[in-house]
Amino acid sequence: MIDMDTIVSLCKRRGFIFQSSEIYGGTGSCWDYGPLGVELKNNVKRAWWRDNVQLRPDMVGLDASILMHAAVWKASGHLDHFTDPMVDCRGCQRRFRADKLDEGEWVHYCAATKGNKFMVPAGEPCKHCGARRTLCPACGKGGLTDARQFNLMFKTFMGPVEDAAAVTYLRPETAQGIFVNFDNVLQAMRLKLPFGIAQIGKAFRNEITPGNFTFRTREFEQMEIEYFVMPGTDEEWHQRWIDERFAWYQEYGLRKENIRLREHEKDELAHYAKRCADIEYLFPMGWSELEGIANRTDFDLKQHSQFSGKSLEYFDEESKQKVIPYVIEPSAGADRSTLAFLVDAYHAEEVKGEKRVVLKFHPELAPIKIAVLPLLKKNNQIVETAKKICADLRRRWYAVYDDTASIGRLYRRQDEIGTPFCVTVDVQTVGDAKATADQKVTIRGRDSMEQIRVPISAVEAVISDLMSGQWAAVAKQTGLVA
Ligand code: ATP
Repeated sequence: MIDMDTIVSLCKRRGFIFQSSEIYGGTGSCWDYGPLGVELKNNVKRAWWRDNVQLRPDMVGLDASILMHAAVWKASGHLDHFTDPMVDCRGCQRRFRADKLDEGEWVHYCAATKGNKFMVPAGEPCKHCGARRTLCPACGKGGLTDARQFNLMFKTFMGPVEDAAAVTYLRPETAQGIFVNFDNVLQAMRLKLPFGIAQIGKAFRNEITPGNFTFRTREFEQMEIEYFVMPGTDEEWHQRWIDERFAWYQEYGLRKENIRLREHEKDELAHYAKRCADIEYLFPMGWSELEGIANRTDFDLKQHSQFSGKSLEYFDEESKQKVIPYVIEPSAGADRSTLAFLVDAYHAEEVKGEKRVVLKFHPELAPIKIAVLPLLKKNNQIVETAKKICADLRRRWYAVYDDTASIGRLYRRQDEIGTPFCVTVDVQTVGDAKATADQKVTIRGRDSMEQIRVPISAVEAVISDLMSGQWAAVAKQTGLVA
């Protein structure tokens, strides 16, 4: 398994993800997506949106505002319940989430070895003296305070007056924007149960211990669905969504052995939830949540109806009765998904005695789909032909032209950023004094490194087949370049 430092350093070096405000020392809890990272994350969001909204007749989208009426957070329960237990170290003053204290390695000064300092793996006892962690995991010396509840919402003021009446919060989840618009969407779109509303947007949580790169940050993006169903059909719909969402990640490349479902214990369930299952991914720091899929019952609609005084009922034509729908919520993180796709794509291989790093992204997710490369950058005809092919391909896919190194190095660079296809223009393509032009180019596949040769006029059609995963079929037709 790849370690997180390798991913962090690749992400910085190749322009995927940078630390926020790095020139000021960074924040540690926020990250910026660079030129390749924004493409990757946009592709993840686009695939999610297309599959969950545009391809489904029972779904519509929404983009609600981040700042909402303060009463929303009272009604939703966030003001009173959206807390994590926090402890402080009396020695070094660091703060920790009380329920996650044993999830990282811990510092131990071992009495059995003359007080030597050791880093003990997460959750394990010291192998010399058998002691378990009781003190601060970071400094190994300070005692910890009792746990206090800490509300994770970011407080702010709406308008120019900073008084109690102006207090509001940055949304800690996108879901509430959907609940408060339930009736607007229902009426405007004339929807019938079951139907869902999907939204992608930023959420903010003042996490006590952010960390593990983009896994836990204070500003992040969610991809959430609220799927409204008739009460009584909720358990069946819940299971359907769990199965669908679990399959979705694998469709875009997460390996089966790195993804699993974890059912919440009864005492772990949020106050509104009847059942919840997490999709977990085997991140470098261990199995961790990628997406939570909860049965939120009719809790939210009932609460908002009660606090706002507006009816949020649905009139069922069949039974001629008003009901408050139940809701199934598949709630995913755009940043966590992007990180999982990055980690899963990472491969370090040995090719002809040399190390090759390659990101084997699903073609739909790859930031750049095609690189067009000239074999000789001093040959004008080659350069012009390559630039023209690149411009043509760009109309349909994100393609780049690069002539800043030798062809071997250019291939390695594209492998390292996960570009599925390279198109190379050489002397044979354009001809020279000795040979006439064959007007063909070489297409190289990232994963197999196999090469095929196709006429320039067929490149677009061939790439289209290759994008849908038909390398073997196309190669059989064209034959491989020796
Ligand atoms: P955790 O237990 O890891 O704090 P959670 O159960 O509080 O997560 P949810 O409230 O279910 O998370 O949020 C839904 C999704 O939003 C998560 O599965 C995750 O993908 C994403 N998410 C939540 N908090 C963060 C965060 N601090 N940074 C990045 N993504 C987050």
